[in-house]
Amino acid sequence: MAVLDVLVVGGGPAGSTCARFLAKAGARVGVVDRARFPRVKLCSGWLSTPIWDVLEMSPNDYPGGRWEWRMCHVRYAGEGRAIPCRGWFIRGFEFDDFLLRRSGADLHLGVAVGDIVRDGDGLWSVAGLRCRHLVGAGGTHCPVARLWAPARPMGPVGVQEHEFRADPVAIARTRLGRDGEPELLLHDDLSGYSWNVPKTDWLNVGTGTADPKEVRNAWQSARANFLAAGHLPANTEAELDAMKGYSYYLYHPEHLRGATRVDPDGRGGAYLIGDSLGLAQPLTAEGILPAVLSGRLLAEAIAAGAPTSYPTRLAAHPVLADYQRVFRLREIASSLRRRKARSSAVAPRSPANSFLTRTSRHALSAGFAWMFSGARFPAPRLFDIALDGADWWLARSSESRAPGGVA
Ligand SMILES: Cc1cc2nc3c(=O)[nH]c(=O)nc-3n(C[C@H](O)[C@H](O)[C@H](O)COP(=O)(O)OP(=O)(O)OC[C@H]3O[C@@H](n4cnc5c(N)ncnc54)[C@H](O)[C@@H]3O)c2cc1C
Repeated sequence: MAVLDVLVVGGGPAGSTCARFLAKAGARVGVVDRARFPRVKLCSGWLSTPIWDVLEMSPNDYPGGRWEWRMCHVRYAGEGRAIPCRGWFIRGFEFDDFLLRRSGADLHLGVAVGDIVRDGDGLWSVAGLRCRHLVGAGGTHCPVARLWAPARPMGPVGVQEHEFRADPVAIARTRLGRDGEPELLLHDDLSGYSWNVPKTDWLNVGTGTADPKEVRNAWQSARANFLAAGHLPANTEAELDAMKGYSYYLYHPEHLRGATRVDPDGRGGAYLIGDSLGLAQPLTAEGILPAVLSGRLLAEAIAAGAPTSYPTRLAAHPVLADYQRVFRLREIASSLRRRKARSSAVAPRSPANSFLTRTSRHALSAGFAWMFSGARFPAPRLFDIALDGADWWLARSSESRAPGGVA
């Protein structure tokens, strides 16, 4: 049996991108997936701007259905705002199939990976195939990730979604903006958001929550909200009942520690990319961009003969460096919210407070839309300094509150 340089388990966006860059570098690479493509993968199909550079293609080169948007409609705390920014929607099953077919790898589809064995020569044996390097790209329940069960400091997020055909005239009449423009509903407690995306004669609706147990109720309340606003066509009730759920992990810096398991002698190893590693954006839960990015960075590390450099390359990439900033920001915001909940003081109603509330709601909506479009932090170094300052202040003020602390 011929030995592959690399076998990728999972042909989603992470696996197919990794395979493509490896094949381009001249490696013998195979992809095994239990599904036959095109396959349904729950995904609303939103792509942020940096993805095309990572894939080394222009949006115009993509032959499938594509909706470019330049306005994001965000509703939060009962107030709606139209925020100019830019991104794309595609249909997930078409896009994944396109990426996999163009990868140039040997495809083994309809083959579920069960046992994974390492033989005496240091080669991996998987589903009748042998390889030196094994890449886990099997999503949340990836069989390769199970080999060394990387630590997950936080639970997964829960998502419910459905994409269905509907009358294009009715969609055009009820949608909030133009075709392809997303309507996002930020949940009042900021523990998740819901979306309603018109794609000409298709609608994609869904909800994601930080706590998977809350996702069903959150969807019911979002559905009532969209219907009350008249933003969903009539006679779609049966479709709106047909939501399907899934869960996956957001980026956490600890996840990067589980990215590789490389032989001390450097002969081969195993690696995780995309959802199998848990890389989705810490606030928006965007997963396709980090999936393709991690696939590409791993391929480049293996092709350079330096697979152990993969986690460092990942952490140093500007997209992941921004995820780290968003992660820290989220932690600081949670810490402040916990303090506010503990304090019994209620802010007095005053024109200044109302102004601050309106301004912070606007900043929040604009910031979310901006992240949704994949924009980079404008002044990352300054932002890091501000985050360090906030961390320092939080640590100091909790010391002074602790019993025996300095008042
Ligand atoms: C409802 C929902 C909506 C989302 N919407 C968006 C969005 O709009 N934009 C965005 O950026 N992200 C979105 N995400 C996240 C995004 O879909 C994922 O982060 C992304 O698909 C991850 O890609 P991946 O290649 O790592 O894994 P996947 O796309 O999950 O691919 C994994 C592949 O591995 C295969 N596999 C699994 N186990 C085995 C096995 N034992 N043997 C063989 N093959 C196996 C599967 O069949 C699958 O094809 C959404 C997620 C959900 C749940």
